[in-house]
Amino acid sequence: MKVLKKGNTSVWVLQPKIKNNKSDETAEASFVEAVALSKALPLITVVGSMLVSIETLSPKEFFGSGKVNQLAKIFELEKIDLVIINNQISPVQQRNLETKWQVKILDRTGLILEIFSDRAVTKEGVLQVEMAALSYQRSRLVRAWTHLERQRGGLGFVGGPGETQIEADKRAIDNQLVRLKRKLDKIKKTRDLHRASRAKVPFPTVALVGYTNAGKSSLFNLLTGASEFSEDLLFATLDPKMRAINLKSKTKIIISDTVGFISNLPTELIAAFRATLEEVLAADLILHVRDISHHNSEIHGLEVEKVLQDLGISDETPTLEIWNKIDLLEPEMLESLKNISERKARVCCLSALNGDGVSILIEKIKSLIEPEKFPETLLVPFEFGKKKAWLHENGVVLNEVYNDVGYEFDVIWSAQQKAKYHSITD
Ligand code: GDP
Ligand code: MG
Repeated sequence: MKVLKKGNTSVWVLQPKIKNNKSDETAEASFVEAVALSKALPLITVVGSMLVSIETLSPKEFFGSGKVNQLAKIFELEKIDLVIINNQISPVQQRNLETKWQVKILDRTGLILEIFSDRAVTKEGVLQVEMAALSYQRSRLVRAWTHLERQRGGLGFVGGPGETQIEADKRAIDNQLVRLKRKLDKIKKTRDLHRASRAKVPFPTVALVGYTNAGKSSLFNLLTGASEFSEDLLFATLDPKMRAINLKSKTKIIISDTVGFISNLPTELIAAFRATLEEVLAADLILHVRDISHHNSEIHGLEVEKVLQDLGISDETPTLEIWNKIDLLEPEMLESLKNISERKARVCCLSALNGDGVSILIEKIKSLIEPEKFPETLLVPFEFGKKKAWLHENGVVLNEVYNDVGYEFDVIWSAQQKAKYHSITD
């Protein structure tokens, strides 16, 4: 469901604060999240944002008429193309506001769908998002139709042209949904094939997961952009949210940024959200990024873990927890968190903003993705020159002596290196 036009779109974000509905704090937190989500959309510029208090919801225009007029002036002045309202908006309210403001409007579900459709990578993810978008459109048709029907009711005017059109649209959407569902079932059956093809990626893959705003993209940019930590490897076939990088030493990894968790995700979007996380299933290591300075950090962390568990990931794949944004902590809090994290092998304190703690993270990534090594003693007959050379080239030799039949090597290597060594023929 691409509603955004190509080129740069000027956007304004509105967070309604409905009286007696949400506590102030929830509205503030939703506001921060909505702006972060909006900024994550491609090809847009968030020009402004505003928290709008509402005394009573207007069924016609959602906001009160004074507010609607005031906002109309701002949007005209700022040349706004798209207004994001972080709430459920009825189709009627949407249409009225779009006419009055001369802008396109996205409500909360629409916004999240845009993010998902931008971020869906796997075939299954793309299909799930398409289905969610169609179902969403359909529900809006139904509601619009109910509204029209109610209007016409008094006239006894059934089966007018508007209704026929909506019925036809509904049928078209239903047919499309059935087609997509069939495709999806087929793909689910061949999921193993799909995973096998992912396994062809030549380096270990590392996936970033976590709540929206936790700092996943910042960390992704830090790891892929800064030559201090990594060297960017060109990899034409990869999704733009995936980059191959060369960590210091010879460790190459592919790192992928994923769609973030969103608080109070509309239930009809849950399947689509999970499908966009499909790529995480194929990861060799998961970095769970947490905004440790956020007052809901604990709850968010548990929610992420639960979803990972439900997806069947947590047991097989090693996970590192990133306690991000430590630069925002009070010194005492920082000290105590650092103490705790130092005793946990699977936790890293860092700041993706100033790079604090990132070198420790890189060491931990390396130790988790580099295969385990074990010592062994080998006897290499004198005539096996290639084998001997290979051992030295690959830096596995600890000690070397010779006797009357050949060389005796003490080596330390991984199972893969051992297999490679035995495949060499002299
Ligand atoms: P994502 O939604 O998880 O990808 O989060 P982003 O990487 O987009 O970051 C969300 C916001 O948090 C941005 O404004 C970042 O500048 C900010 N941010 C990210 N990491 C840090 C950090 O370590 N410290 C501080 N102070 N801000 C950060
Ligand atoms: Mg991001």
